[in-house]
Amino acid sequence: MTRRPASVTVRVPAKVNVQLAVGGPRPDGFHDLANVFLAVGLYDEVTVAPAEELRITVAGPDAGQVPADASNLAARAAVALAARHGLEPRVHIHIVKHIPVAGGMAGGSADAAGALVACDALWGTGASREELLAICAELGSDVPFSLVGGAALGRGRGELLEPLETGGTFHWVFAVADGGLSTPEVYRECDRLRGDTAVPEPEASPALIEALRTGDAVALAASLANDLQPAALSLRPSLAATLAAGTEAGALAALVSGSGPTTAFLAKDAESAQAVAGALAASGTCRAVRVTTGPAQGATLL
Ligand code: ATP
Repeated sequence: MTRRPASVTVRVPAKVNVQLAVGGPRPDGFHDLANVFLAVGLYDEVTVAPAEELRITVAGPDAGQVPADASNLAARAAVALAARHGLEPRVHIHIVKHIPVAGGMAGGSADAAGALVACDALWGTGASREELLAICAELGSDVPFSLVGGAALGRGRGELLEPLETGGTFHWVFAVADGGLSTPEVYRECDRLRGDTAVPEPEASPALIEALRTGDAVALAASLANDLQPAALSLRPSLAATLAAGTEAGALAALVSGSGPTTAFLAKDAESAQAVAGALAASGTCRAVRVTTGPAQGATLL
């Protein structure tokens, strides 16, 4: 019999959407997207170990906001993999949470991708990359990207991924807001604000893709775009002051991360990122500030 590890830990990154182009609502309620993801170096760690039954524990300052039951996306990932392989998901999943919860940085999706890779290693199921990606897509639109990391263009609901080349390291500052925003609510607000206005087909910006490829932060800053930003600002008007504080402190550009309410600031270099972070922390317009870089690796076995 093959010896199985006693526990497996996987590190998974958060993401920022450097472009999020949102089409009109589809008949199934989802929206077609052109979603350019960049993984950044804020990580959750997901550890799995054999247990009598499926159990979830979460550690970290915001652990209380994360469901510690079968509704946790990491638990759903373990159940999905087990079901495909005729196994019982008898596993203890422990999540060390550093990614802001309900912050528009795909924290739950990251944990799902992490649990999937970790359980695959623990159980020796040997799932192919294709199978893992298929399970990810069933679990949520952002989950496949959490698995692959780097930079990618997501089409469809965001789950049809095309990897993108990156030519350097981008310096980012994230301002974490108090409380979260519900992603479905932000999409509804986006539809409401648009009313009857015709919505064009979502297209990735060639200038943005080129800026990622060449590692040109100034060009990337000029192309950053998030169609959900007006909706996030409408639901959380105080975010405007956070965006302004980072821009005044020298950020090349500022935008809401995904559905928010985390805000993202692209800096020229590491030094400028520290200055922007200091100014944001002193501004009183956010709860916490994180400095990091992207691209970051996708789900990685430790
Ligand atoms: P996205 O950017 O993909 O829209 P998000 O970063 O805004 O997502 P998440 O942190 O993924 O939001 O959490 C959204 C909700 O999902 C939370 O309010 C929580 O109730 C639920 N949830 C389920 N599993 C998890 C998990 N492992 N971590 C965080 N939240 C989870």
